[in-house]
Amino acid sequence: MAYLTLRKINKIYPNGFHAVHNFDLEIEKGEFVVFVGPSGCGKSTTLRMIAGLEDISNGDFLINGVRANEKGPREREVAMVFQSYALYPNMSVYDNIAFGLTLQGVDEDVIEQRVMKTAKILGLTDYLDRMPRALSGGQRQRVAIGRAIIRKVGVFLMDEPLSNLDAKQRVTMRYEIAQIHRETGATTIYVTHDQTEAMTLADRIVVMKDGYVQQIGTPYELYYKPANVFVAGFIGEPPMNFVRGTVQDGAVMFGDVKLDLSHKLKDVAAWEGKPIVFGFRPEAIKLGEQAGSYVVNGMVELTEMLGDNTNVYINVGDAQTILKVDSHDTPEMNEPLTFSIPYSEVYLFDGETEMVIGGE
Ligand code: ATP
Repeated sequence: MAYLTLRKINKIYPNGFHAVHNFDLEIEKGEFVVFVGPSGCGKSTTLRMIAGLEDISNGDFLINGVRANEKGPREREVAMVFQSYALYPNMSVYDNIAFGLTLQGVDEDVIEQRVMKTAKILGLTDYLDRMPRALSGGQRQRVAIGRAIIRKVGVFLMDEPLSNLDAKQRVTMRYEIAQIHRETGATTIYVTHDQTEAMTLADRIVVMKDGYVQQIGTPYELYYKPANVFVAGFIGEPPMNFVRGTVQDGAVMFGDVKLDLSHKLKDVAAWEGKPIVFGFRPEAIKLGEQAGSYVVNGMVELTEMLGDNTNVYINVGDAQTILKVDSHDTPEMNEPLTFSIPYSEVYLFDGETEMVIGGE
């Protein structure tokens, strides 16, 4: 049986706004699940309904198979780490971490043991006497996580816990959160709008948009088998390129290149006159002419050297496309460039529903 079950969960705010629609998900014990999506898609609302901080308008939330909609946050045995870490400024790191246990009246010795263990996991042992203002952003965030994990609850809920950190600290803390999860084995639900965080941390990702779940899957599944145009464009950096067109004579036009869809679609005739979206990832192309590929000519507009690879912005007719190439192969700007898109790397989507087409 799943540890947590969300069955057709809906949130309608008092002002009538329907923020979450029929959210279905089963979470196993120990899983690390990430909710990802653009701002306003309903990630935090869903997390807050799981935490018991927000009423569930419709649907069932079960813990170990038992309905928990009406349970308060404490009874649900969840601990939440928020975006703003809200430490007590006049308490030392030790007291901040110990606070929840002190409130519960836990024995001093036990508190000390647990604080020391938590501090060790988080690399805070040398900072226990400091006040929060004397800590870096990353250290403060670790204290906030410490306050949550010391409680030994069933589920950790984290709402954009890294968003106040700079880029370097985010990478370090991301690694640490993964380590903490490995060490504690705690079921974790993590909200972010950052697809890199989602991809690197998650066992499974839930992609949301406008209050609707778009797809649920492992990072691998979302990258290689996106269900629709939105997921394909959201997962991957730079995003997938899309060529939109109407099928004519079994092809769509990409600049002046005719993309013959019979390489991808067995029933290409059935698509005649219908809108289609042709997608390929920037990193999936090969430079020059290759067999078994769509061969495309364009003009290089701009190159961005990023270290081991270079983003190449290229105009194909009036469509702008991004390619990702080995930086040793960085092309000249304002020069023509030929590249190949292997047939096997092409995704086709129904232009009306935006859903992926079986292809192959
Ligand atoms: P962000 O990444 O910006 O935090 P999110 O995906 O977490 O976004 P939510 O905070 O869950 O989004 O909000 C989802 C939608 O519900 C938004 O359109 C938001 O404006 C709306 N919303 C949130 N709280 C309320 C409220 N109390 N009353 C009415 N609408 C609300």
